Amino acid sequence: MNLSLAGQVALVTGANGGLGAHFAETLAKAGAKVALVARRVDSLAEVAARIRSAGGTAHELALDVTRRDSVVSAFDDAARALGPVTVVVNNAGIAVTKPLLEHTEEDWEQVVGVNLTGAWRVAQEAARHMVSNKTGGSIVNIASILGLRVSAQVPSYVASKAALIQLTKAMALELARHKVRVNALAPGYVETGINREFFDSDAGQALVKRIPQRRVGSPTELDGALLLLASDAGSYATGSVFVLDGGQLVNTL
Ligand code: NAP
Repeated sequence: MNLSLAGQVALVTGANGGLGAHFAETLAKAGAKVALVARRVDSLAEVAARIRSAGGTAHELALDVTRRDSVVSAFDDAARALGPVTVVVNNAGIAVTKPLLEHTEEDWEQVVGVNLTGAWRVAQEAARHMVSNKTGGSIVNIASILGLRVSAQVPSYVASKAALIQLTKAMALELARHKVRVNALAPGYVETGINREFFDSDAGQALVKRIPQRRVGSPTELDGALLLLASDAGSYATGSVFVLDGGQLVNTL
């Protein structure tokens, strides 16, 4: 089994913190040259510096997934700096937590605009390059178990992630003949800097009790699945959804 990404160029959206920064560092450790993209470039530079000081290759670029021109130029710039992109982690994502009846048009458009339309825009541009360069490649969409079940107060988020899972399958179907694989990771609750305080709170602890493993995941527990899907080890996997959630999805309570 070959989990190495030596010779690959990976582009990770939302790579300036949280899971995206972790994914970028994981891909770099596996040997990929990594293009780090997000809107806030100052924090991208910190992640890129960590990758370089560990001996990896990283290039940071501004990208707003809601703008086609930004996506197109980021792929061109990444190719000029590192070579053609062959692995994409579609990680940028946002949530608005509000009851259904209070969700505004703007809330809906924002969440669907980043999580679904933005991910589609990035994946489509990636696929155009992979097909025209005849390199093939691997696209990993970061969905969520909330694309497979629902939770209150995040209707736009659950709808966007469910649609992202269907988009993953639709893209896999059309792109297989071009040797482009498209898969999704569906994490449950994973502790990052942003939510650590919440999981330490009473409300957070109550939620943890409903997870069969009685704990939230750590970003490193997504590494195996990410590397499997990104590398040749996952060469026969396309259109799949890999759930990593401590058993939360099979808990009917
Ligand atoms: P996070 O820390 O809030 O990171 C979100 C990232 O998305 C940031 O880097 C942000 O950078 C980027 N982003 C937002 N809007 C963007 C835009 N218009 N263009 C480009 N980048 C944009 O979130 P996270 O917890 O690491 O989550 C990462 C992904 O995992 C999301 O898709 C989320 O739905 C999914 N997920 C997370 C968990 C979890 O427990 N953490 C569980 C399941 C799924 P800028 O603001 O600088 O652009």
